[in-house]
Amino acid sequence: MSDYVADLMAQVKAKNAAQPEFHQAVEEVAESLAVVLDKHPEYRKAKILERIIEPERVIMFRVPWMDDQGDVHVNRGFRIEMNSAIGPYKGGLRFHPSVNLGILKFLAFEQVFKNSLTTLPMGGGKGGSDFDPKGKSDDEVMRFCQAFMTELCRHIGPNTDVPAGDIGVGGREIGFLFGIYKKIKNEFTGVLTGKGLNWGGSLIRPEATGYGAVYFAANMLGTRKETLEGKTCLVSGSGNVAQYTIEKVLDLGGKCITLSDSGGFIHDPDGIDRDKLAFVMDLKNVRRGRISEYADKFKSATYTAVDPSKDFNPLWNIKADCAFPSATQNEINGKDADNLLKNGVYVVSEGANMPSTPDAIKKYVDAKILYGPGKAANAGGVAVSGLEMSQNSMRYGWSREEVDNKLMGIMKNIHDACVAASDKYGTPYNYVNGANIAGFLKVADAMMDQGIV
Ligand code: NDP
Repeated sequence: MSDYVADLMAQVKAKNAAQPEFHQAVEEVAESLAVVLDKHPEYRKAKILERIIEPERVIMFRVPWMDDQGDVHVNRGFRIEMNSAIGPYKGGLRFHPSVNLGILKFLAFEQVFKNSLTTLPMGGGKGGSDFDPKGKSDDEVMRFCQAFMTELCRHIGPNTDVPAGDIGVGGREIGFLFGIYKKIKNEFTGVLTGKGLNWGGSLIRPEATGYGAVYFAANMLGTRKETLEGKTCLVSGSGNVAQYTIEKVLDLGGKCITLSDSGGFIHDPDGIDRDKLAFVMDLKNVRRGRISEYADKFKSATYTAVDPSKDFNPLWNIKADCAFPSATQNEINGKDADNLLKNGVYVVSEGANMPSTPDAIKKYVDAKILYGPGKAANAGGVAVSGLEMSQNSMRYGWSREEVDNKLMGIMKNIHDACVAASDKYGTPYNYVNGANIAGFLKVADAMMDQGIV
């Protein structure tokens, strides 16, 4: 670690105590940028990185709501407006009991670079609540969303800050959030993305993050003149990103053999085909069940409960070619990375945000496998959110093929920008450095142009 990065990290840790995920995200970026900041003293003089690390605004609020029994609950709501140098704040809302300020700051920080990589005019933000939608009725989720938006609506707007979904926030929640926003503001605007198709949503938005992570993997494989045809893939999670990752891997001739949730994972060596995927979509999106039910239904599969206190996750200890972590942060540690490499995995494309620990990333980089970090590989979701904003502004909708082609083009551009930046700064095919550097430069130059604000 250079002296500059060491000093910066000491300040970040002192100022942002008890936010380990935020420290982790900043350290990874700062290490990649050390060489850029050496070449460009003007960025250092203008304290560009120090300013990017400090959110432009943090909003934290009380969210009281009533359950079906008439009991009152109090959750905490957040919106981190991280950086608006290149466009309105943009980033998802996460509803999960693990949500806290540090987790949302890490996500908002990553979002700044990710949104810049898409080449669309979007700043970075993130928000959410420690509310747990699991086990709640639709009415309870609606009352919570209404209470949450009653405060959040003061701070967002189609030209200011445009939230979307993330863990625990899908089409149902976006609908409830949009409905109450429209009622309070008395305006029908593109203030949220991920909207329903018949009220301003974009085709391919639900698919975009998963599809994009697969396109990114295909682009990485292309550098070795290979494709996904015939490849065996591990997928974690079983929500939005995992489901559409499987769909696109099937389209491109590969086979996915795992899915998980916070209880454990299923392993289906025969592969998750389209019929089985339709079962998963109904199970998770409509019936809101657990992934263990997959193994009850399909005898080719086994279910393994995962003990989070163990030092490795057996999901990552299965023979395969590719891995698409699509659940949550830090789900692959150093031991898991060893297991992936030992089992022949040589492509890791991150659908989730920061799913690999720094130890795991070091192992991928040392082994020179094709590793696409989340801020590049999962940027397809926010990219199509950007396209949804454009369609809302034009009051016009593009066809499925048009949006998918644009998504494919954006993922290729992101891939190529990462390769070019990593090459230019002396670490060829290091997608971590490439994504951090390419994402940073556009934001940094905009901040230089706009003065000390
Ligand atoms: P969903 O809520 O649809 O699904 C999340 C899945 O991950 C569920 O299967 C959930 O299991 C599992 N999961 C969540 N938290 C944990 C945990 N602590 N331990 C183990 N499993 C967990 O979310 P998404 O699919 O939208 O998001 C998944 C990842 O992709 C997140 O990292 C998100 O930030 C990232 N992402 C999402 C984008 C999007 O467009 N939706 C865009 C870019 C990134 P369970 O049901 O048991 O909680």
